[in-house]
Amino acid sequence: MSAGVVGPRNPNPRDFLNVDALLDDEDRLLRDTVREWVGDRVLPYVADWFEEGHFPKELAKEMGALGLLGMHLDGYECAGTSAVQYGLACTELEAGDSGARSFVSVQGSLSMFPIRAFGSEEQKQQWLPAMAAGEIIGCFGLTEPDAGSDPGGMKTHARRDGTDWVLNGTKMWITNGGIADVAIVWARTDEGIRGFIIPKGTRGFSTNDVHKKLSLRASVTSELVIDDVRLPADAVLPEVVGLKGPLACLNEARFGILFGAVGAARACYEAALDYAAERKQFGKPIAAFQLTQRKLVEMMVAVNRGMILALHIGRMKDEGRAGVEDISFGKMDNVRMALDVAREARSVLGANGITLEYPVIRHMNNLESVFTYEGTNEIHTLILGQAITGIPAFE
Ligand SMILES: Cc1cc2nc3c(=O)[nH]c(=O)nc-3n(C[C@H](O)[C@H](O)[C@H](O)COP(=O)(O)OP(=O)(O)OC[C@H]3O[C@@H](n4cnc5c(N)ncnc54)[C@H](O)[C@@H]3O)c2cc1C
Repeated sequence: MSAGVVGPRNPNPRDFLNVDALLDDEDRLLRDTVREWVGDRVLPYVADWFEEGHFPKELAKEMGALGLLGMHLDGYECAGTSAVQYGLACTELEAGDSGARSFVSVQGSLSMFPIRAFGSEEQKQQWLPAMAAGEIIGCFGLTEPDAGSDPGGMKTHARRDGTDWVLNGTKMWITNGGIADVAIVWARTDEGIRGFIIPKGTRGFSTNDVHKKLSLRASVTSELVIDDVRLPADAVLPEVVGLKGPLACLNEARFGILFGAVGAARACYEAALDYAAERKQFGKPIAAFQLTQRKLVEMMVAVNRGMILALHIGRMKDEGRAGVEDISFGKMDNVRMALDVAREARSVLGANGITLEYPVIRHMNNLESVFTYEGTNEIHTLILGQAITGIPAFE
């Protein structure tokens, strides 16, 4: 016989389903360490960074010292954590700002992962330890001005010239582009799409930062200009040919997002919960009104559901059972959830909700980018549509 239902257990409004109890001591220690770091080094300053359109590059070494860069990779000075632990770190980083989580995703999953998975031994030795330490910053160039959701339509190409490669093209919307020491650039070749390692300072390679963004302002987004860039034979990633290379990287990063988005949603829900308890109208806290309680409850349920979903997919990944469809499920649903929670929280804060004095509109605006990058909401819907009907509807 089951133990049955206990009486009211006075759940913690900030962890209603007691997800904490599903984690082990190591998971909790890692989560709490990242949460504390975000509380000390991100939250007090991030509204200013967002307003100024600034990402403090010096955070890279601090993140490296915490073991956050390439943390789910093995060897080469990487921390070698579980997928769930990587995810929990992403949740805490994104509860600070999507820019901080984007930095870690791009460094670990989009720049270090391809070197770890598809690089030569020399490439791994040369780049990974310094990238894990945050001494070298990476970026990932796949998207182009005319090739976003359909990266197979890329125009950037590489041709052989003797033993060298010569690359031409333009990449767009590249996170960390302007601050990166090295770029992983995907280009069309006679053999198929291949990945190239382009160190900063290579002749013909330059970057232009994107300005006038209203989202992910505490993150650098850039154009990469590749104009007759000549690279030696050993600049190509030898172990992969075809779109499956960049798509494998995107799957790693999308996994971080499905956890990260829960952090942004949690921060918005908690801001609304605190605000509703303090703000008084008609002689009572606005939390006393039924309409506000409904909003708070919907947000709380959504955040808890998102966390349980993330943990479930994280455990599947750790057991080697997560498919690309599962990652799409989590990315699509948790980002959409987070955006809905952010918008609802914004309404609870009234006029204060539109200022950077509170985190909500910053998260809300950031999540618009998260909704679009790493596979748009529509592309993940189509991946899931194909998975359940067997019919691809992309073209
Ligand atoms: C802040 C930020 C950071 C980024 N960082 C990086 C990075 O580091 N590296 C990188 O390579 N890229 C990066 N990107 C680019 C991102 O991955 C692309 O924006 C994304 O893939 C969508 O491409 P697009 O913007 O060209 O939109 P499009 O592909 O033009 O899509 C426009 C709209 O059409 C829809 N659509 C497209 N095709 C279909 C279809 N078949 N069926 C139905 N709807 C469809 C889309 O879902 C979307 O709603 C970043 C983007 C942003 C905003």
